[in-house]
Amino acid sequence: MALLIRNGEIVTEGSRLRADIYAEGETITAIGNNLAAAPGTEVIDASGKLIFPGFIDPHVHIYLPFMGTFAKDTHETASIAALVGGTTTYIEMCCPNRNDDALEGYELWKSRAAGKSACDYAFHMSVTKFVNETESQLREIVADGSASFKIFLAYKNFFGVDDGEMYQTLELAKRLGVIVTAHCENAELVARLQQKLLAEGRIGPEWHEPSRPESVEAEGTGRLATFLENTGATGYVVHLSCEKALRAAVDAKSRGVKIHVESVLPHFLLDKSHAELPGVEGMKHVMSPPLRAKRNLDVLWKALAAGDIDTVGTDHCPFDAEQKLMGKDSFVNIPNGIPGIEDRVNLLYTQGVKRGRLDLERFVDAASTRAAKLFGLYPRKGTVAVGSDADLVVYDTNYRGVISAKSQYTNNDYNAFEGVEIEGRPSVVTVRGKVQVRDGKFVGERGRGRMLKREPSHF
Ligand SMILES: [Zn+2]
Repeated sequence: MALLIRNGEIVTEGSRLRADIYAEGETITAIGNNLAAAPGTEVIDASGKLIFPGFIDPHVHIYLPFMGTFAKDTHETASIAALVGGTTTYIEMCCPNRNDDALEGYELWKSRAAGKSACDYAFHMSVTKFVNETESQLREIVADGSASFKIFLAYKNFFGVDDGEMYQTLELAKRLGVIVTAHCENAELVARLQQKLLAEGRIGPEWHEPSRPESVEAEGTGRLATFLENTGATGYVVHLSCEKALRAAVDAKSRGVKIHVESVLPHFLLDKSHAELPGVEGMKHVMSPPLRAKRNLDVLWKALAAGDIDTVGTDHCPFDAEQKLMGKDSFVNIPNGIPGIEDRVNLLYTQGVKRGRLDLERFVDAASTRAAKLFGLYPRKGTVAVGSDADLVVYDTNYRGVISAKSQYTNNDYNAFEGVEIEGRPSVVTVRGKVQVRDGKFVGERGRGRMLKREPSHF
């Protein structure tokens, strides 16, 4: 089966070009003007539309046992939600906890995705302890194609590693050429501040942010940077949320530390007043690091435009209202997460490109290309070029709509961006040459997605 997309304007991280794209099978085989179609070719007219490389969400949770419950999506629901919103590849955090065996966890996470995802996917392997068998297990996992790690400097005694384990992980990662993604907070301070607030009777969701303030995230970010500096490893801060932490990362970058930065959709659009709403409405806006004081939003947008923030992910992690209410007597029991896999691209386009905060090329870079480059997927993913996978998003900039939980594919009963207007959406989304989405509807093949094998590239 061949695919021809005619007359669109192709936007990559470095160029804009009006041309046709021809894909034979799963791969882009020609880009040019007036390309001819063999009989039987599926032809899509993209006149007046933009064509982007399939977008990549570098940070999602799909299968996730957490705080005594499970995140709501499956790979079936999350991948369709992703595709409808223009995301054709996601990288899931494989998160066995400290009590689990790492290799068994890895196999479990893989089994949840295999044959289920409608788009391509990969894994960041969490290192939640460092024991005798850890090195050999991680070598095996890297050899299997999962060439990135995740560490948590928060969630003490569950996902969290101590400084010694962080050192061992980074030292091994350096030898293996593997990038290490990191949740940067100070676990000890979070635990102490939580206890203090609860002892004072401060139990509502509005106390979640004060229990993990900006300084606590900045400390974690700075500590990661110092450990990177002294091991020579390459790191990637996930979901950086505020100016103080940004400064720690940018300082490190400027002294040559190999540190990259991701911020996630909620931190660009929502602030801590959302978590201060009474009852379950506040709980729906609880994630870690928390939503911050409003002054940070503009700082993040500017850093994103400048490229100091490399990528935009989501930290997609849906828990429904009933699950959120597990924390009604204590904010520490609210399952953390604000889902966004379906809305990331449209909101970033609307609030970024349309509002003049981001140019189109940086938008593509931040939401696709840079993640592909950092995580060993480029140029197979993250660009529109001959030889790349035909993961394409034909984007309708004239579309106008409103985000609502009622019409979403994400398996959840609320959307934190409910009622927000979007000015654009994908009209066609392809995965390796096959049309999976048309105008907001999934029309494709379930289970088409494949696990992407990635080589280490950070030596
Ligand atoms: Zn996460």
